[in-house]
Amino acid sequence: MKNTPQGKNIVIIGSGIGGLSAGILLSSLSYPVTIVEKNPLPGGLMRSYRRGGLDCPVGVHYVGALGEGEPMGRMFDVLGVQTSDLFMPMGNDGVIDRYIFDDFVFELPTAIENYEDNLRRAFGPESEQISTFMNNLREIHRRMLNPAFLINQGDPFQNIDYLQPLGEYLDKLAVSPRLRAVISVPCELFGVPSAECPVLLHHMVLAGYLFSAWRLKENGSRMADVLAQRFRDLGGQIILNDGAEKILISEGMVRAARLDSGREIPADYIVADIHPKILLGLMDSNTLRPAFAQRILDLKETNGVICAQISVDAAAHPETAHNTYRLQTNEKGEIKDGVFYQIRQGNDQANLLSIITRSFYEEWSDWENTVSGSRPKDYSAKKYALAEELLEKAQNIFGPLKNARVIDVFTPLTIRDYINCPQGSCYGVMRSAQQLLKIASINNPPIGGLLLTGQNALAPGVLGSILGSFEVTRKIIGTEEFNHQFHWRA
Ligand SMILES: Cc1cc2nc3c(=O)[nH]c(=O)nc-3n(C[C@H](O)[C@H](O)[C@H](O)COP(=O)(O)OP(=O)(O)OC[C@H]3O[C@@H](n4cnc5c(N)ncnc54)[C@H](O)[C@@H]3O)c2cc1C
Repeated sequence: MKNTPQGKNIVIIGSGIGGLSAGILLSSLSYPVTIVEKNPLPGGLMRSYRRGGLDCPVGVHYVGALGEGEPMGRMFDVLGVQTSDLFMPMGNDGVIDRYIFDDFVFELPTAIENYEDNLRRAFGPESEQISTFMNNLREIHRRMLNPAFLINQGDPFQNIDYLQPLGEYLDKLAVSPRLRAVISVPCELFGVPSAECPVLLHHMVLAGYLFSAWRLKENGSRMADVLAQRFRDLGGQIILNDGAEKILISEGMVRAARLDSGREIPADYIVADIHPKILLGLMDSNTLRPAFAQRILDLKETNGVICAQISVDAAAHPETAHNTYRLQTNEKGEIKDGVFYQIRQGNDQANLLSIITRSFYEEWSDWENTVSGSRPKDYSAKKYALAEELLEKAQNIFGPLKNARVIDVFTPLTIRDYINCPQGSCYGVMRSAQQLLKIASINNPPIGGLLLTGQNALAPGVLGSILGSFEVTRKIIGTEEFNHQFHWRA
């Protein structure tokens, strides 16, 4: 590539999807980039783990918009990573998600036209409401095809209607409780209740899956390894098992990152793929204005989850092409509780049923001061008892589960210790309508050379985290050069 940058060292803290994708983009532009990671292996939430001979996912169950020319497909193209090698399409049976409510079932189909058909079939009398909603959804769907929209956050981001909470928007449309419930499900995917979730974020996530929905072909560890290898092939260096302990700053500019081992790595830019509250702890307490620091500390987190990984008989319980959600609502149709189920192919004998549901950090406060790997028996007893309850309830949906055995359970404490996030928050800070402006301001910290990527920068999830890396790159090289290097125009 042209314009090789001279003498600009970049250190990225954290090797999640945000850190690795930023590393790939910046090293493809010939910047010398070092990623530092506190864990022994790269990948963060993207990485899966093995238990009982099965690959257990952590933070990648399904993603949207990976098809050719679709938003995430285009981003993977720029990263130089073959999506066909990593992902396979979902919904061979025409369904991406099956939503099971107390008294009705709705299927999220593949493609936006089918979604509209399903809504009209299920909610015929609400034809006007559906037309308004679909017009707005289609506008975002169409605009997502324009890369400039994703990065520069054009018109709809300025349009106040798209920034209002989904709950208010649906109040104005006067939808029935059932229609509200169905439309609100995507908010569950990134942990923001519909009453607080910005319409734009909801529409982008839903539209993403309606472009196309995909699962990992093999597992998250392979995805992490492929991205890490791509980064290394471009000349990037990954330091494992040695977290960043301090960011050294002088005269308002980052100078270096100091690691747990004491090693210092000089940096002209530091890109943080970590939670902003953890980032704050890496700086001297007087680095930021107290009001700015307090704004970060006051940010509300998304909730944690408990996940039960269950081995089931492979012949009796084959992989399903769609996911299943069991959802509970209040009388207004707001979702109050939800459980996610996914059955994935394992080996000749066993497949994996993953069950995920909300779990509050406070429920685990007895063990708050313990760390993963050395928690007492009563913690294990509690988490396995909850997993058994989840397994019991799963049989109401799937029927008796043959040879079912809980092979692992993770809780908010596991996630807290694994990726270093306060309260085990699953999707980082809550991107609610109320917090949007605050989050936008912390995404531009007043320290020269300090930038944020990952789920806490622009948006959560795989799509949002990679988007954050494109934005970091644009900020470093400027919009003109960015468009030129990555052919990033509509
Ligand atoms: C249970 C669950 C299910 C999910 N399912 C999906 C899904 O199906 N689809 C989807 O799109 N999204 C899903 N998500 C969200 C998605 O996984 C995340 O948004 C995304 O992976 C976050 O990536 P990231 O780059 O922000 O950081 P992370 O993956 O959190 O990585 C951060 C890295 O930084 C490292 N680190 C922290 N502190 C330091 C330090 N001081 N020094 C060095 N390294 C440090 C951590 O060890 C970690 O490796 C899910 C999340 C969870 C928890």
